[in-house]
Amino acid sequence: MRKVLGYALPHVPAISLQFIIKFGGTVIELLLPSMLSIILDDIAPSGDMNRVYLWGALMVLCAAAAAVTNIAANVMATRISRDITEKLRHDLFVKTAYLSCRQADKFTIPSLNSRLTADTYNIHQMLDRMQRMGIRAPIQLIGGVFIAMLLDPALTMILVATLPVLAAIIWFISKKGVPAYDSVQQALDKMVRKVQENMTGVRVIKALSRTEYEKQKFEEINRLKYEREKRAGIIMAVSNPSLNLILNCGLAVVIIVGAYRVNGGMTQPGKIVAFLSYFTMILTSLIMVSRLFVLYTKGVASARRIEEVLSAGEEMEVIPGEREETDNHIEFRSVSFSYNKKIENLSDVSFSLKRGETLGIIGPMGSGKSTVLNLLLRFYDADKGEIRISGEDVRSIPPGELRGKFGVVFQNDFLFADTIRENINFGRGLSDDAILRAAEQAQADFIADKEESFDTLLAVGGANLSGGQKQRLLIARALAARPEILLLDDCSSALDYKTDAGLRRALSREFGDTTAVIIAQRVSSVMGADKIMVLEDGRVAGYGTHEELLETCSGYREIFEIQMGRRG
Ligand code: ADP
Ligand code: MG
Repeated sequence: MRKVLGYALPHVPAISLQFIIKFGGTVIELLLPSMLSIILDDIAPSGDMNRVYLWGALMVLCAAAAAVTNIAANVMATRISRDITEKLRHDLFVKTAYLSCRQADKFTIPSLNSRLTADTYNIHQMLDRMQRMGIRAPIQLIGGVFIAMLLDPALTMILVATLPVLAAIIWFISKKGVPAYDSVQQALDKMVRKVQENMTGVRVIKALSRTEYEKQKFEEINRLKYEREKRAGIIMAVSNPSLNLILNCGLAVVIIVGAYRVNGGMTQPGKIVAFLSYFTMILTSLIMVSRLFVLYTKGVASARRIEEVLSAGEEMEVIPGEREETDNHIEFRSVSFSYNKKIENLSDVSFSLKRGETLGIIGPMGSGKSTVLNLLLRFYDADKGEIRISGEDVRSIPPGELRGKFGVVFQNDFLFADTIRENINFGRGLSDDAILRAAEQAQADFIADKEESFDTLLAVGGANLSGGQKQRLLIARALAARPEILLLDDCSSALDYKTDAGLRRALSREFGDTTAVIIAQRVSSVMGADKIMVLEDGRVAGYGTHEELLETCSGYREIFEIQMGRRG
């Protein structure tokens, strides 16, 4: 909460001014019923019309002043809470973007998502309501009770008698109603997730004839939401009218008792009218205060969740290290790594590449191939061993500089809903010439066949392209800036053999001095590499050239024979 409050600090003068204005407006409003009672009881009976007009005008003036100040204060409050939340959301977004992959894994992506949206919204609501009601409700409550006592202590007793009933209902709402709405929200989240899954996975669901099953799943969630909504709805449907019933019963009793007291000459009718106003004011401000508490609890919980992210430490610190004299461009020295710090995902992996050399990595799914790239890019830090680029420890290279060295295509990489040109350019301000060349090198000749060529708009995720077309665009993106190191993670699996061969020829012809790490499923994609590493369960099962591995590594030989056999 401290950190989030820190965001409100620069606004303290504005908030104070807002509070003062609100305070003035509320006090004026508080006096209105009393003025009315004076007019009714003292001024009107005197028959002096000039005084009646004067007081009437005064009352209208006060009412107008109360309205104007309230509106002004509310506008200020909205602006202040909007500014605070905007800054908070901005900082949270930046922080989220800079979280290390390990931290993001720990928070989980959906949770980061809801912290950025739902939680900042809760903070906004809390700040807004607190400013609008935080000062108004207590003044009305305390001031109202005080004036009511002055007006008629006996009638105030009726007010006091209704309080426990009112408190019970409010307690019921906050204990039952609020959690009920929370559970509705959770069911809604589930439903949104399910719908999203269905939309994204619509093809595989159809292909595997899972439509019926998915429909059933959706029905279950829909039913859950329905049940919870019904429950929450009933609680609220009972509560609000009950509050009104209490209020109206109280008012009725005040009128009856008041009538007796007026007849008995113990009080005047104007006072009863004023008392009715205060009675309403006090009870509604009580309800308001209770709602503020709910908002406050929610806001504090959200603030805590946001602060967890904001105060997450800098994990990927740049630590000074000695540069070693070496002619190796990339070097892994006995690197071990585990995502969850329980089971090792890479164990004792070593390899080295000179400038311009290519490493091919091959191995079954889950053997740690992509993990090698994650470590090289320093998305995660190795637990043991060293990773060096041009003799420098990756941990000693500033992240911007480090990642600037690479051109990367990730497994399941992402295309944006933008033009083909922009998807290759990727905001790097590359020349049209560079983009054209990269597309050529990536064998993306299909672009020329498109009606609008490089200006063709892609659908979200590149859904209007085939798998192989997507892969070639992604490769073009990686090549376009002529990187020092090229990392390709399983990006030729959807290419036909001819295109794949063309790509390899273009790479060796035009990227001769680019060091490359290529992960592939096909032996043919890595066969020509200077070195090949076979990974099995995070361990190096073989390392050497194609010919060497055929001799020494039975696993490699097996894959080779199966694939070549299948081909021929
Ligand atoms: P592949 O060889 O198929 O590219 P990966 O390097 O992606 O394999 O994964 C190696 C192992 O690490 C797998 O068992 C996978 O489940 C696990 N793994 C990958 N990414 C994560 C992650 N972010 N958190 C936890 N485990 C992971
Ligand atoms: Mg992988």
